[in-house]
Amino acid sequence: MAIPTSPFAAVPRHIGRRGLMLVLSSPSGAGKTTISRRLLDRDPGITMSVSVTTRPMRPGEVPGTDYYFVDQPEFKRMAEGRELLEWANVFGNFYGTPRGPVEGALREGRDVLFDIDWQGTQQLAENARDDLVSIFVLPPSAAELERRLRARAQDSAEVIAHRMAKASDEMSHWAEYDYVIVNHDVDESVLSVQSILRAERLRRRRQIGLSDYVKTLQSGH
Ligand code: 5GP
Repeated sequence: MAIPTSPFAAVPRHIGRRGLMLVLSSPSGAGKTTISRRLLDRDPGITMSVSVTTRPMRPGEVPGTDYYFVDQPEFKRMAEGRELLEWANVFGNFYGTPRGPVEGALREGRDVLFDIDWQGTQQLAENARDDLVSIFVLPPSAAELERRLRARAQDSAEVIAHRMAKASDEMSHWAEYDYVIVNHDVDESVLSVQSILRAERLRRRRQIGLSDYVKTLQSGH
């Protein structure tokens, strides 16, 4: 079944809506990037938050699209100047979410997708719980996770063991999330994320002007 993609689907046009923050976290190798890309392709109402990071750019990455690449002093300046909504040290590199674009989008009723780790999700939960919807993506099996980590990193056994340890650490935080998806099939997983998004967009607290709308209905105009 195709799920309509309008950000205001099923909400009367004159009722406004505050945007929401949709966080997808997972260990690397669980398929989160593919799910995010397909969701962004299918749903014009949601945009990706582009993080700043101090880690070196990888081949094929585009500055301003994948990340904003900054040095440590610049990252420190942004963190201390409260320009970041959340930030964390993820296995030796700093990552953070620029505050301005997210706050602007939410005010305008647009939703924002985040690919951030459990530390960032915890900070958003502390500071902006009402706007947050968090989903944890688990791989279909340990064997599949290992296969994907091996396929990705054509690296030594030591590097692969390190990636497995990182994945295990990230997965230990699954219970802190609102929803958990086991990624057996990418299309099914995208449909699940779209269903969560659709339901969360209809939450009463996100809809602005509902009581006026109901009054109009009651008065018969
Ligand atoms: P990578 O270096 O492979 O792109 O990302 C490594 C990890 O950093 C991933 O788990 C990703 O979710 C996380 N990450 C990316 N951007 C941010 C961010 O802005 N904040 C936080 N807390 N984590 C991030």
